[in-house]
Amino acid sequence: MTLTTNALVPSHGKYDTLVLEAALSCADLERAVRMARAELSEIEDVLMREFRLRPQVIGTALSRHFGVPYEPYRPERIKPALLLKHLKAQYVEDKQWLPLDEDKNGLLILATDPERVKASRIVNQVFPKSQIRYCVTTSLEFKHTVDQYFGTTYRSDGSSLRELLSGMDSQEGSEVEAKVSEAVETELVRLVNKVIMDAYRQGVSDIHIEPLPGDGRTAIRFRKDGAMMPYIDIAAAYRDALVSRVKIMCDLDTSERRKPQDGKIKFNKYGPLDIELRVATLPSTGGVEDIVMRILAASDAIPLERLELSPLNFTRLQRAIEKPYGLFFVCGPTGSGKTTSLHSLLAHLNKPDTKIWTAEDPVEITQKGLRQVQVNKKAGLDFATVMRAFLRADPDVIMVGEMRDRETVAIGIEASLTGHLVLATLHTNSAPESIVRLLDMGMDPFNFADALLGILAQRLARRLCTRCRMAYHPGDDEMQQILDEYCAELGNTLAFTQDRHAGRHAILARWAARYASSDGRFTLYRAQGCGECNKGYNGRLGLHELMIGSERIKELLQERARVTTLLAAALDEGMLTLKMDGIEKVLQGLTDLRTVRQVCMK
Ligand SMILES: [Zn+2]
Repeated sequence: MTLTTNALVPSHGKYDTLVLEAALSCADLERAVRMARAELSEIEDVLMREFRLRPQVIGTALSRHFGVPYEPYRPERIKPALLLKHLKAQYVEDKQWLPLDEDKNGLLILATDPERVKASRIVNQVFPKSQIRYCVTTSLEFKHTVDQYFGTTYRSDGSSLRELLSGMDSQEGSEVEAKVSEAVETELVRLVNKVIMDAYRQGVSDIHIEPLPGDGRTAIRFRKDGAMMPYIDIAAAYRDALVSRVKIMCDLDTSERRKPQDGKIKFNKYGPLDIELRVATLPSTGGVEDIVMRILAASDAIPLERLELSPLNFTRLQRAIEKPYGLFFVCGPTGSGKTTSLHSLLAHLNKPDTKIWTAEDPVEITQKGLRQVQVNKKAGLDFATVMRAFLRADPDVIMVGEMRDRETVAIGIEASLTGHLVLATLHTNSAPESIVRLLDMGMDPFNFADALLGILAQRLARRLCTRCRMAYHPGDDEMQQILDEYCAELGNTLAFTQDRHAGRHAILARWAARYASSDGRFTLYRAQGCGECNKGYNGRLGLHELMIGSERIKELLQERARVTTLLAAALDEGMLTLKMDGIEKVLQGLTDLRTVRQVCMK
């Protein structure tokens, strides 16, 4: 028996207007409320994430509910410094109101729940004698406004970063070489923890600490979605203490300042997060030391279907790795998502009847059912040693984090020829290039040809923010140019050397069928920028070049063919280059051509 709860729907206060305005069904609002409760997040977060409601839609509903105007987040707004003088970031965030503006009509207060603020009469106490007007905004936009006014970095557990820093800065007057006091040192420990926790929460991949010599300030910048962005900078007086603190956290020699060092921080020893950071120090000009920390956060594998391979690549990839033995490579530069893709492949193969061993450095993604080994070079446990041990440990599938040297590749080929499926990453740029590189390393072409199942090259491109991207219909000129760039990739293929004109025509016709509207018009998008994204981009998207170890490719491999010949053969068999796959994703509105050009630069 099923229970219908429609008659018993409770009121959710300010969000009920969404249902009245038909932006959401009653059941969906119910579901959002339940999800928010289960994951301890805000209802608005769930509404935006799961139900794709834009802040504007929620804001308009809130405006209807409270009977005051909706005020969106405006990046160009100027901070009303005088009005904010006596308000602290933490207070504003706790109480969810702040003054936006004051003019002859009085003081304008921004709040997420104007009724509650009004009832508390608090605004009258802080700003006596003022005429008060209210406007409402969403929680997210309120957060953005607070960040805009107080800096994105103040938020913390306990005291704010601003407070931490201002406490430290007050000592800046003294000479730079001054001994850092014990109290400040405690603050510094908290500061470093906070930088790491903020970085992790913001989904940052790397933390860069960049000191200047003399009395220059030390910049801390984050890399997120591949782009650098400023975080904070710190007074010169704390430069050395800051660097030492990080070194202590990863057991590096604090007195050694002239040589690069590398180490690891197990952050759960210092803070409430179970993450690891890989740390590299580098002496830079002026006798200072730079530090770069990469966050190695444990995460789950992404299912193969969600890697956003084109449908054709998805089918070809599945077919390739469903063979019981052979060698499959994922290649690309550092940070191109190779490990993520490998784990998606493993997730696909991970069944109770299959034994899977992995050798990784570090183990970033864990999966139930896999037996994962952390490589530890310092302890003598390198990739080659682990792989040899795997061969004695009855595997079906072996995954190797990286194959950089002749020895690991040779063991990999041997393993695949003795009946195992071997997956590995390579630091090469393209699929055809990988083959030539491996042969150059001295692999036997015949064994290698026998073993090769396929090579997936990949890159990550910035994804257009779907909230603010601007649609437009490209003119003929622009479409011709896109077609030119696409066809330039096809240079030496049979189809193209025979009849260039017909080749181009066929591609355009295929695009029109796949991506254009019924009247034949394409829609492309421009990056715009909103409160939700980084200059029009949000997250990243994989571009793929999948070369299958077909009979023809194996033949060419045995003949030690050149990269261009291998490429042409693969293209004739239907492979798309990274750039071509990127252009197809531009035509789908997922990214833009500029981004694709950037990441596919040769
Ligand atoms: Zn946006």
